Amino acid sequence: MKIALFPGSFDPITIGHFDILERAKLLFDKIYIGIGKNSTKQCMFSLEERLQFLHTCFKGDEKIVITQYDGLTVNYCLEIDAHFILRGLRSDTDFEYEKNIAQINKEMVPSVETVFMVCNPAYSAVSSTIVKDIKRNGGDISRYIPKPLSRIL
Ligand code: ADP
Repeated sequence: MKIALFPGSFDPITIGHFDILERAKLLFDKIYIGIGKNSTKQCMFSLEERLQFLHTCFKGDEKIVITQYDGLTVNYCLEIDAHFILRGLRSDTDFEYEKNIAQINKEMVPSVETVFMVCNPAYSAVSSTIVKDIKRNGGDISRYIPKPLSRIL
């Protein structure tokens, strides 16, 4: 069984994350969407809210498991028996950042492979940061978040 972990802050989940997940479902039997609790990022939404957003997006989807974890991502992979870490790439900047993390993760736990998926060009400018900025300033975020979320976000 091919199990992947898609780690992130998902503050909130965007159409970009959602697209990566839908495409990755063709590659993996199970994908854990894991909210890392040790991130130093200042979040707009609480952990509970972010989990609720994910549950709303993937209700009834048997391939998706929504979780949270503490500590190193690679250690969590060992815990859930995931041999793959899934990440999305939007730009050179994403790649440079992700490459370093992937190489260090590989050094720490060689049995876990990082798999990158190049983002859909329609979503390469979409980020949780921009979605939050628009929301804070009273704009319409509905086109940047998965459809099931527009009722609650
Ligand atoms: P982190 O806090 O780890 O950066 P994010 O929630 O911001 O987590 O992102 C999780 C993953 O989703 C990362 O691999 C990121 O590159 C990817 N991602 C973010 N936005 C997009 C997008 N618009 N298209 C494709 N992938 C994306």
